[in-house]
Amino acid sequence: MIVTGCLGARTGAGGANLVSELHPSVLAVTGPHAAAEVVQHVHAHLPRPHDPFVDLVPEAGIKLTPRHYAYLKISEGCNHRCAFCIIPSMRGDLVSRPIGEVIREAGALFDAGVRELLVISQDTSAYGVDLRYRTDFVDGRPVRTRMIELAEELGRLAARYDAWVRLHYVYPYPHVDAVLPLMAEGRILPYLDVPFQHAHPDVLKRMRRPASGERNIERIEAWRRICPDLTIRSTFIAGFPGETESEFEHLLDFLREAELDRVGCFAYSPVEGATANALPNPVPADEREDRRRRLMQLQAGISQRRLRRWVGRSMRVLVEGLDEGEDGAVAVGRTAMDAPEIDGVVRFTGRGRLPIGDFVDVRITGSDEHDLHGEMAARARAA
Ligand code: SF4
Repeated sequence: MIVTGCLGARTGAGGANLVSELHPSVLAVTGPHAAAEVVQHVHAHLPRPHDPFVDLVPEAGIKLTPRHYAYLKISEGCNHRCAFCIIPSMRGDLVSRPIGEVIREAGALFDAGVRELLVISQDTSAYGVDLRYRTDFVDGRPVRTRMIELAEELGRLAARYDAWVRLHYVYPYPHVDAVLPLMAEGRILPYLDVPFQHAHPDVLKRMRRPASGERNIERIEAWRRICPDLTIRSTFIAGFPGETESEFEHLLDFLREAELDRVGCFAYSPVEGATANALPNPVPADEREDRRRRLMQLQAGISQRRLRRWVGRSMRVLVEGLDEGEDGAVAVGRTAMDAPEIDGVVRFTGRGRLPIGDFVDVRITGSDEHDLHGEMAARARAA
């Protein structure tokens, strides 16, 4: 017998599940709205007949990333209507996955050997808004479908597997401040991918950006006070229609002051169907490209300064493979500061065999514009 429903979420006098305490012979107990969990228990006690079509698919599904990291999609679509973007017209409004389902997938991925989960969506901070932060069940515990609870649950799960959790596409809404303590405590990686896109309030208004407050510098300073090792990544658009030279200079001043760790910049490019195409005073293509180049040039110096502070320190590194350079092969890995494919790497000399997906401790001996260099100190202890 499997028991499901509201009573299944209650705790008994002994601190365990009420129904399990009273009826120890019950096979499984779940809270309400836990259809997938019930089916899981049914299959555990009554295995499905062999089906060659689906039985060959691993528990974690089929993923296109290497075995040691995986993307975890928590929602689809977006409630915003940024003028340069056509995602909402293609994918519709925000639809969040219930938190129980997301955590189950995360568990299956960790079970399959994943050492780093990258949380993705169109707007991670808005997770659960469409569900009104509805309560779902994780291991029989009631948990709200909301960004902070998601970060807590993923951090708890990752600790069991000695793995990393990294958040992407976080808009700087006020409630985001609540995840910083989790980062400072090492429960999720101290890494925030915040797509600011611009800094001038008039450009942000024309872009129709969400959370485009003018207090972003203060927010960044407050985040760094809570979590001094925080890495902030962001992307920007140079040459958005109507962007004046002084608005662009304002953006450069923001970058000088904010000293972001990782920055990507695109020259504005009109996408078919985007409302921004109808805006007056488009910036000529060569000027857009020139502004992109100026921004990246400025950021290269900032990035170099930011990376220098790690020299002499020891960092936990996830091994990615070997880099065959002119002077022979060196090991390559990523730190908490480096999301795969978009950020930098650490090149380091090591000892013995270094399996991809292992954690090692690396003493940082040098840095350049985007990458670090070091030597392996030891196999890493548990995070
Ligand atoms: S760019 Fe704007 S509209 Fe497009 S997905 Fe991001 S927040 Fe939504």
